[in-house]
Amino acid sequence: MSGVTEASIFAALKGIVEPKSQQDVVTLGMISGLIVKDGNVGFAIEVDPKEGAAMEPLRKAAEQAVHALDGVISVTAVLTAERAGQNAGQGGGGAAPAPNQAQGSQAQGQAGGQRAMVPGVRAIVAVASGKGGVGKSTTTTNLALGLAQLGLKVGVLDADIYGPSQPRMLGISGRPTSPDGKILNPMENYGIKCMSMGFLVAEDTPMIWRGPMVQSALQQMLRDVEWGELDILVVDMPPGTGDAQLTMAQQVPLTGAVIVSTPQDIALLDARKGLNMFRKVDVPVLGIVENMSMFVCPNCGHESHIFSHGGAKREADKLGMEFLGEVPLDIEIRETSDEGRPIVVSNPDAPHAKAYSAIAQRVWDKVSTQIDAGGARQAPKIVMQ
Ligand code: ADP
Repeated sequence: MSGVTEASIFAALKGIVEPKSQQDVVTLGMISGLIVKDGNVGFAIEVDPKEGAAMEPLRKAAEQAVHALDGVISVTAVLTAERAGQNAGQGGGGAAPAPNQAQGSQAQGQAGGQRAMVPGVRAIVAVASGKGGVGKSTTTTNLALGLAQLGLKVGVLDADIYGPSQPRMLGISGRPTSPDGKILNPMENYGIKCMSMGFLVAEDTPMIWRGPMVQSALQQMLRDVEWGELDILVVDMPPGTGDAQLTMAQQVPLTGAVIVSTPQDIALLDARKGLNMFRKVDVPVLGIVENMSMFVCPNCGHESHIFSHGGAKREADKLGMEFLGEVPLDIEIRETSDEGRPIVVSNPDAPHAKAYSAIAQRVWDKVSTQIDAGGARQAPKIVMQ
């Protein structure tokens, strides 16, 4: 049906000129990992990490040029920083020590290639949301603690680089140590190992991360951290479903994803966007958690369904996704998570803590099935649909 070929794509990309050198991106060897499937095209553009932000127009132009070809249905171009290794230092940016990550090797044949697992880590699960403020981080923390209650070895990777909350929610402060100046020891509380950009930069430092830097920071937190043996690493993703999140979902060898949504966002289809994002990168969505599902009056116990509770279950059914559970809007959940004493550990017998524990059990049931069914996923590759 579609006549698009690699040759025609490279020909179109030859029209895209890198502004500094005034040479085209193909001649400069900046294009890698091209995949074409049924008219859907994906490729990476390798850039100098320092130029990341400036290269965004070039990325867009490349996408448009390919999109204009006959037979092309969709185009996804991502910026990668293959050569980031040697010089992305500790300097003012506050990045972790001496990056030595697998990013360079990944960029080669990236889109279809293998994403190496993290040794010792049996499963990695992303917690994602269509937008900020829906309780993604609170869910991550309490889910992780619920998984630990099951007797599992659990880690939390705070990939919400722009607004890291895990140090606060897990009640951890201070800085990670690094015995050899390369590999960081994770921080720990309540038996959960945790790594977050929040430990590496001061809280009031503005996080002006650009595409390639974000990716390199994520790779460092994943691979340059001594996670040890973990049954499950829970990743607190940045909110939203844009290119940055897509790239992250694609770079981490995810076993599955949990989508957190409030009832009103479900109506606005944010959850569907999350689902589509993970489908694009071939990551199974384990299910959806409805947060702030209803309000229980602390005085009289009356249940108010402020945001038309129950929508998540209906929508999950419609989308063929599992409904993992619902968590009410509750002052104790807010206070405890914001004070670093999450409800699952500070009041484990409370009904809301039990809601998280039940969600954790469901998630683990699904994850262990995935592990049994052929091991953890090796390569979330871009699968165009
Ligand atoms: P996100 O990670 O999606 O931006 P957070 O987890 O940081 O959202 O939550 C935003 C705020 O809402 C926090 O102050 C958190 O304590 C609060 N919150 C999250 N879930 C609940 C809930 N079920 N009940 C009450 N407050 C909640």
